[in-house]
Amino acid sequence: MRTETEHTIYLRDYAPSPYKITAVDLDFRILADTTRVRALLTIEPQAETAPGTPLVLDGDGLKLGSVAIDGAPLALVAYAADDNGLTIIEPPLRRFVLETEVMLKPEGNLKLMGLYRSSGTWCTQCEPEGFRRITYYLDRPDNLATFKVTMTAPRDLAPVLLANGNLVGRGDAGDGMHFAVWEDPFPKPAYLFALVAGDLGSITDSFTTASGRKVDLAIYCEHGKEDQCHWAMDSLKRSMAWDERRFGREYDLDIFNIVAVSDFNFGAMENKGLNIFNDKLVFAQSATATDADYENIERVIAHEYFHNWTGNRITCRDWFQLCLKEGLTVYRDQEFTSDERSRAVKRISDVVTLRSAQFPEDGGPLAHPARPDQYREINNFYTPTVYEKGAEIVRMLATLLGEAGFRKGMDLYFERHDGEATTIEAFLAVFAEANDVDLEQFKTWYLQAGTPRLTMSDSYDAASQTYTLTLSQETLPTPGQPTKQALVLPIKFGLIGPNGSPMGWSAVSGGEVRDDMIVLREASAEITFKGIANKPVPSLLREFSAPVNLDTNLTQDDRLFLAQHDSDPYGRWQALQDVATALAVGAATGKPWSDASVNGLSRAMADTLANKDLDDAFKALALSLPGEALIGRTIGKDIDPARIHEVRNALTKAVFSPLGRDLLIAYTNLSSTLPYQPDAASTGRRALRNRVLALLVGSEAAGASALAATQYSEATNMTDRYAALTILGSAWTAEAPTVLADFRTRFTANPLVFDKWLMVSSLAQDEGVLERIKAILAAPDFPKSNPNRLRSLLGSFVMSNPAQFTRPDGAAFRFVTDVVADIDTRNPQVAARVLTGFRIWQMLEPQRREAARSALTALQDGGKLSRNTADILARMLAE
Ligand SMILES: [Zn+2]
Repeated sequence: MRTETEHTIYLRDYAPSPYKITAVDLDFRILADTTRVRALLTIEPQAETAPGTPLVLDGDGLKLGSVAIDGAPLALVAYAADDNGLTIIEPPLRRFVLETEVMLKPEGNLKLMGLYRSSGTWCTQCEPEGFRRITYYLDRPDNLATFKVTMTAPRDLAPVLLANGNLVGRGDAGDGMHFAVWEDPFPKPAYLFALVAGDLGSITDSFTTASGRKVDLAIYCEHGKEDQCHWAMDSLKRSMAWDERRFGREYDLDIFNIVAVSDFNFGAMENKGLNIFNDKLVFAQSATATDADYENIERVIAHEYFHNWTGNRITCRDWFQLCLKEGLTVYRDQEFTSDERSRAVKRISDVVTLRSAQFPEDGGPLAHPARPDQYREINNFYTPTVYEKGAEIVRMLATLLGEAGFRKGMDLYFERHDGEATTIEAFLAVFAEANDVDLEQFKTWYLQAGTPRLTMSDSYDAASQTYTLTLSQETLPTPGQPTKQALVLPIKFGLIGPNGSPMGWSAVSGGEVRDDMIVLREASAEITFKGIANKPVPSLLREFSAPVNLDTNLTQDDRLFLAQHDSDPYGRWQALQDVATALAVGAATGKPWSDASVNGLSRAMADTLANKDLDDAFKALALSLPGEALIGRTIGKDIDPARIHEVRNALTKAVFSPLGRDLLIAYTNLSSTLPYQPDAASTGRRALRNRVLALLVGSEAAGASALAATQYSEATNMTDRYAALTILGSAWTAEAPTVLADFRTRFTANPLVFDKWLMVSSLAQDEGVLERIKAILAAPDFPKSNPNRLRSLLGSFVMSNPAQFTRPDGAAFRFVTDVVADIDTRNPQVAARVLTGFRIWQMLEPQRREAARSALTALQDGGKLSRNTADILARMLAE
């Protein structure tokens, strides 16, 4: 165990280590219950290191067996070992080899960091600080070393032996044991180390790079599941080809392996040449995986593969720079999906994700900059801000520089920093240099937390034919950042004339306007367009070109006009969202909607459904009302999630009941008897049909829930079956208990489908949901150590069932904090993640707020929490 002292690490304290490890030779002897690790580390002092400077290696929970330098065992007085590491008091001031030996017990490692066993397979997770649970090391990303790994293991338990790099030797080791030797020629930080040993099946393929090199590809998994890995393999090959086409990046080793494991804290991990995946992001077949699963698998396979260049070849100097690899790589995977599928649909989906996952974080007690400047527990910074906002920042950079300018910067980044551990400053510098621009103000996006509010008002003067847009930006204080600076906002826009056509202008003044983009750098600007014959309707923030909250003086009629005429699909979708949000927020705060205002939205929805120029996937998104959490955040304070839930249901009914006949016809026309295909068009068709079904049930159309029950039982793929299950389960209709029970027994043997059952069970909108969740968790056979199961049941409840999670009696708050305390004793990362569901507590109305405070305080008073959970709790409760 590590001592859980309060210890904050600051970016400003960064200093290079006085020693560097340049080569690592690891020898793992894996036996059924213990693993012996012998490490030979080639170590050199830095040029400026003074004689007598101790060498401090990280270690976490290791038991030192022996320690030697250049083959000579060290005297007891020459070193000190404790729970946090190993110190060599006075190492030689020259190159030397440190040899250590430790014993591990992977079986009992329930934190799933370091070396552990998942369903019998030995595997590792080292990012960010897991390698120090394997051996003593400079466990920091700026130490790059070459790795050679020898693994010896029982042949029957582990016929497959994998590590990073290329396989350079293998053979028999006697006594039923065998060995393999792997060498990775590319120097890398220890967080990219990986090892897998187990009895696994596999599928293989190959990819020939643009320069003609053949790469052997394999995906390993539990025996019997090989046929579920083909979609992942297909996604991998398309990712490899895309990175060559779009960024000129080829793969560099002779082998690329992926391993699927069932117990994993993250989605997947980009270890050099040996990616380890949570199995839910590998297995796909139409009977058990939904379209969303297919798209997620494709996205994450691509993401981890793209890390080979943005993360592995060029890595982070320290963990404060995490968004250097994550924001950039999320941007790259978003672009991949946009190119492979529909760009507009992908953009809207990403905006929905950003608003539901990142904006609440940015506006609450856990707000932090994309590049934080301090942390107590780095595991708590694998956040939507680092990933999703990090990607938005890269996207703005690409928007400001244009596609060619962005590519020039990326090319220079690869050229200049390949093989280095670097920083956000170095990343921005290449774009500034390649494009001869100043990015000093742009950098503030990385340093400043909080979602800016962009406010727009407009006026038209018919006499002078001038049109004026007044824009201003403001970012509210966030924890530790009381004052904020103005940011560079790229605002894509267009002016639309009364006939629905785009309008041009003869001159513009008062701001930086480039064709279809305003660049706002100041706190406010007044931009005047000349030669405007009629009052236009502005379409602002097209493609959601900056991650801000936008307030405008547009009327509901203006928004309905945009929903019909905006040439930007995102703009159309957003206009419908804005109309609906205004109605819902009004009703939830005592200003009920008028029939006329609802009818306008109803007609716009009918037009959208009937429009033959729009594709199905877009329509499915356009016909979705804003979520309860978004409505709550728009209200901003003293929110009552139960009231919002009622209002949203009433709005669904009011808007979509008049469309009942159209919806039924669409539902029938969209059905298909063709075999399942995961392509974009088929996926879009199913998405729209299932959306239509949800609207029929949501607007309580006659026979709708029976129709959903029929779809559930007659479905020929998981997408349609799961959609019907979710619709019935979350509305908790009369059919819900029966279909849920059927689903449970139909897929008893499949843990990933069990997760879907857990999710739907936790999303039910009735008051009985809490007791049912308690019963599920209390069942003796519930796998309480598996992150996927826990996240499916509890993560979905706290994040996606606001009305029931925030019950005014506080029963659900207390239940969740009790469960967090229990999970924390085994897996602190999962416990801390579940606890973040409380991040909206300060926005609740007083009774709920007090109930939440009391549950959080009781958890804190109970003491004995991990650093992960204690850190989240302390930030959550800070005044
Ligand atoms: Zn990543």
